[in-house]
Amino acid sequence: MHIAFIGLGNMGAPMASNLLEAGHDVVVFDLVEAAIQTLKTAGAGSADSAIEATRGAEVVISMLPAGAHVRSLYLGQDDQPGLLDALDGKPLIIDASTIAPDDARVVGEAARERGLSYLDAPVSGGVGGAKAGTLTFIVGGSSEGFAQAKPVLADMGKNIFHAGDIGAGQVAKLCNNMLLGVLMSGTAEALALGVKNGLDPAVLSEIMKQSSGGNWALNVYNPWPGVMENAPASNDYQGGFLVDLMAKDLGLAWELALGSKSAVPMGSQARNLFALHAAQGNGRLDFSSIQWLYRAGEKE
Ligand code: NAD
Repeated sequence: MHIAFIGLGNMGAPMASNLLEAGHDVVVFDLVEAAIQTLKTAGAGSADSAIEATRGAEVVISMLPAGAHVRSLYLGQDDQPGLLDALDGKPLIIDASTIAPDDARVVGEAARERGLSYLDAPVSGGVGGAKAGTLTFIVGGSSEGFAQAKPVLADMGKNIFHAGDIGAGQVAKLCNNMLLGVLMSGTAEALALGVKNGLDPAVLSEIMKQSSGGNWALNVYNPWPGVMENAPASNDYQGGFLVDLMAKDLGLAWELALGSKSAVPMGSQARNLFALHAAQGNGRLDFSSIQWLYRAGEKE
């Protein structure tokens, strides 16, 4: 298929690479020239603008940081036209960014008004899952759009869920990430407690993995440096999922809770922890660096 891919960051770049490897004809665009060059070397076509990248595309995929970027890409900003008004055909639009459900609904409705099919398809699985092509896609939108998207998503992911109409993918994703924020900070807290009381973090991790405290952070994303070779914690918390993005997702979950009068005391606590960690200058580190909040006294 002819696919336009917009947003080649930690997640978008490996996702676009997997589409190339699956044999698709991919044209990419990012605001960062170096990101485009890397994909070009891997065989992608490149464009000077998002609009140019979508010329002749059957599918448009975006993977951007936040709702403001998605709204401005599709709806336009100031006197810049949005993609929805600039497309030369009727491609299927898949936005895989994590954004507020209401932002997805606004863009999705605007697409519907123009006879275009839009899906919100946020992902879970991290950079490791994006590289391995094993992401989980959580999709909101029409059943027809979902059926059309599934084979393309299957080239980047393993589990593909239809959560409901437009916005439902984002609601499910925010519930998941709120739980992840709670689990990562809880895991960091337990590890720091054990180490302060004389335990080896690797030994404690193995014990908790095999016990009732076992969870995804312990299994594949251990926050203590050196415990898990391929985890961002063992690479100075570089790459992976930024603290800023986790703080954003927990803020979105909080807004969702406010709007639905839901109590989220654990999610609120996690939001405050990540917001504090980000405010201390750690926003561009991987989110497992929340471990440092519990080790602050150790930093020289
Ligand atoms: P990132 O910051 O690494 O990448 C975002 C990319 O979008 C950057 O390369 C940036 O230059 C580009 N961009 C921004 N505005 C643009 C525009 N108008 N046109 C073209 N390119 C533009 O972020 P990421 O980690 O790749 O995350 C992307 C999305 O996926 C976020 O919504 C995040 O919450 C979500 N997510 C991330 C992870 C993860 O582990 N990193 C996991 C699941 C979901």
